[in-house]
Amino acid sequence: MARVNDSYLKLKAGYLFPEIGRRVRKFCDDHPEAKVIRLGIGDVTEPLPSVVCHAMHAAIDEMARRETFRGYGPEQGYEFLRAAIAEHDYRARGCEISADEIFVSDGSKCDTGNILEILGPENVVAVSDPVYPVYVDTNVMAGRTGIADADGRYAGLVYLEATEANGFVPEIPQQPVDVIYLCYPNNPTGMVADRQTLKKWVDYANANRAIIFFDAAYEAFITDPEIPHSIYEIPGARTCAIEFRSFSKTAGFTGTRCAFTVVPKDLAATDSNGNAVPLFDLWNRRQSTKFNGVSYVVQRGAEAVYSDQGRREVKELISFYLENARRLREGLERAGLTVYGGVNAPYVWLKTPTGTTSWQFFDQLLDRAHVVGTPGSGFGAAGEGFFRLSAFNSRENVDEAIGRVGRALA
Ligand SMILES: *Cc1c(COP(=O)(O)O)cnc(C)c1O
Repeated sequence: MARVNDSYLKLKAGYLFPEIGRRVRKFCDDHPEAKVIRLGIGDVTEPLPSVVCHAMHAAIDEMARRETFRGYGPEQGYEFLRAAIAEHDYRARGCEISADEIFVSDGSKCDTGNILEILGPENVVAVSDPVYPVYVDTNVMAGRTGIADADGRYAGLVYLEATEANGFVPEIPQQPVDVIYLCYPNNPTGMVADRQTLKKWVDYANANRAIIFFDAAYEAFITDPEIPHSIYEIPGARTCAIEFRSFSKTAGFTGTRCAFTVVPKDLAATDSNGNAVPLFDLWNRRQSTKFNGVSYVVQRGAEAVYSDQGRREVKELISFYLENARRLREGLERAGLTVYGGVNAPYVWLKTPTGTTSWQFFDQLLDRAHVVGTPGSGFGAAGEGFFRLSAFNSRENVDEAIGRVGRALA
């Protein structure tokens, strides 16, 4: 008799985005004339940098000729891309990360989920609240939690609240934890962590032999020179942190798929006999066994991101979204709302008017302004009373949305 993985039955059936979709569809059916603007889901809208497309075209032509055709590549990624990453993302910022500590993959979403495989089931896992739902759901699927309570909080996970009071940067937990997910610049709040904050976590992790999963998917949006782009800018991070990076939001790769994970060779965890085991070895084994690498064509495209022209084009792309974020932020403030984020990140995190829940605000905005956002409560109990708007859209749509929201709230 075949049995299912019961842990999947504990999941809160992908509640957030399907529910948004349902409400938007109903609204569109009832108001076919309405021109709805979607500032909800975190997907990019602008096309790939031209230098990336040229590189991929050239790579396709190589694949079309016997002499330059390539079959399976290295599971860890091609040396040309790993070297470019090590040079530009790390050595250029003073971080000692070598090319062979970089594992190229087809996405940070899968990497942040898959990484759990190499850690024992008894680890106490801490996530922020609100949180990128993937961190929570992958822990549930892996059988690391009990069931969820009425607020959607799973037994067994430690939730670190990111609130207005702590500037949306959670405190170190009182109880001991073994694994901590940090995401900066943050999705959904759009807030960043400064050097002192990250140092506190690195020191905590080293003192308690805990591991930090640092998700830096939005590092390219950091414009403030004081804000670290990588956890490895903090001394001591090599012995306590794994970093996840992605070309998705940086260079418009959400549909093209390329990302990477950094596992320093100095990072170890303890086995049941008390021996220190390098996580590098386990992740390398895991990837070699269960993953066959990212397409050569895509890796050539990702490499082009680091060329002079690529860096120029990416900078323009990021500036475009950041200008959208600035307009959103200022427009919403003019409309009388309290707004966070949107400076070093493509998300603004607004406080819903007093007495209005996240979902009520969602309905109001859809009804009165025909604008779709994401209710904060969908990211966790502490997100109640907040609302996320994304800067990933055309300038025209962003300006139109701001005008409509202003009139709707007047
Ligand atoms: C978009 C996003 C990613 C990137 O995921 P990919 O699978 O690489 O597209 C990772 N983390 C967070 C928090 C994100 O919002």
